[in-house]
Amino acid sequence: MNAMKRIGLLVVGLVLGASQSLAASVDTNYIWKAGVASAIITPQTNMWMSGYAARKSPSHGKAQDLFAKALALEDENGTRLVIVTMDIIGVRPWLRQFVEKQVAERHKLPPQCLLMNASHTHCGPEYREMKGGEQNTGHYTAFLQERLLRIIGEAIANLAPARLSQAHARCGFAMNRRLNYALPKNDPNAKKAPNPDGPVDHNVPVLMVHVNTNLCAALFSYACHNTTLSSVSMTNNVPRYEFTGDYAGYAQETLQAGRPGLTAMFLQGCGADQNPYPRHYMIPYVKPLEFAQQHGRTLAYAVEAAMATHVRSVRGPLRSAFEYVTLEREKKDPKKDAPSRQYPVQVIRLGDDLTLVALGNEVVVDYSLRLKRDLAGKAVVWVAGYSNDYGGYIPSLRVLKEGGYEAPNYTPDIEDRIVGKVRELHDRLNR
Ligand SMILES: [Zn+2]
Repeated sequence: MNAMKRIGLLVVGLVLGASQSLAASVDTNYIWKAGVASAIITPQTNMWMSGYAARKSPSHGKAQDLFAKALALEDENGTRLVIVTMDIIGVRPWLRQFVEKQVAERHKLPPQCLLMNASHTHCGPEYREMKGGEQNTGHYTAFLQERLLRIIGEAIANLAPARLSQAHARCGFAMNRRLNYALPKNDPNAKKAPNPDGPVDHNVPVLMVHVNTNLCAALFSYACHNTTLSSVSMTNNVPRYEFTGDYAGYAQETLQAGRPGLTAMFLQGCGADQNPYPRHYMIPYVKPLEFAQQHGRTLAYAVEAAMATHVRSVRGPLRSAFEYVTLEREKKDPKKDAPSRQYPVQVIRLGDDLTLVALGNEVVVDYSLRLKRDLAGKAVVWVAGYSNDYGGYIPSLRVLKEGGYEAPNYTPDIEDRIVGKVRELHDRLNR
C-alpha cells in the first residue's frame, strides 16, 4: 500500500469513526427513550402494482423487499411519538384510521402522536380494492395491517435510553418536473419539461438515534417522487413487473448494509412536482433499475455526509398536534355543492430543536420552501408530504394558477388554509 492510499484510508476511517459515535457537540444530558422495529411488507403472492396504470398484468416477483419501519420516541415526561415509514404508494385514509384506532386502544397512543408516511414507490402493491382483485387485495391489506401493528408494538416494547441528534446535507438528483411557466409562450423551451430552473428542495435532513453509543436508527427525508423506474422493466425484451422501494428503498438498503444494527427510515418530503433524473429509459445504455440503485446510493451518501458534519442536539419535550382542515373544490355546477376534502395536518415539536410538519397527500415543493421560511426560528424545520392520507395532488397557489398535472381544481385559498392550520398548530405548541 502506498503512502497516499494509507492516508486516504485513515481519513475515511476517521470520518466513519466520527459519524458512528455520538458527536462531541451533542448535549448528552437530555435522555430520551427510543425503540425501533421493522418488518417486510412485500406481498407474499404476486398482485397488481400501484402508481402506473399502463401495466398489463400483476407482478412477477421482486427486485428488492419492501419494508415498514417504526420508530418510537419517549421524552423525559413520558410523552410518546411513533413514526411509521412504509415502502408503499401512499397512506390510504382507511389504513390510517385502522392503525390510529388500534394503537389508541392497545398503547394509549393518541392520534397526534402517530405519524404515518409512505415513500410513494410506484413499484409497490396496489392495495385499494380493484375490480377482480378484491380477494388478493383483502389478503394483502390484512397482512399489512398486522405487520404495522406488530412493529409499532415492538418499537414501543424496545424503548430504551437514547440520545437524539440531527444534521443535514444536500442531494441533487431531484428536478422540478413541470414546465417553466415563466417563459414566454413562444419560447422554444416553454413546452419542455423538466425545468432545471424550477423550485426544488435538495435538503436531506437526518435525525439520528443513539442507544448507548450505537447509531440504531437514522430517519432521513428528501422531496422527490419515488419514480426512477418506469411502469415496465424489460428483461430480454419481455416486460417484468417487480416490487422495489425505488431510490428510497436502495438508499435505506445501502445505509443498512454499511452499518449493521442500523434501521434506516425514509420520510418522503414535498416531492409532488419533483422527479429523479435521469430516470426511466432516458439513457439508452442504462437500465432504469441501475438509475434507482445509483440515486439510492447518492441519497445514502448524502445522509452519511450529513452525519459526518455539523451534528446538533435534539432535546425534548415532545409536543404534537393533529387536526383536519377543510379544502374546497371549485364548483363545476353552480346548483350543486362541490366535494370538499378533510385534509390532515400534523405538527410535532421536539423541544426548541426540531419541528416536523407532516402534510397529507402529494404536496408540491412550494409548501416545504414556504413553511421553512415562515416557521424559521431556533428549531430546524422538516416538512413531509405523503403523510397520514393519500388521494391526489395538493397545489400551491402558484401551481394552481399555472395549471398542469399537479393542479386539481381546488379553490385559490388552498395554500392559505393549509399554511394557516400549520401556523395555528405550531403556535399552540409554542405556548
Ligand atoms: Zn405521485
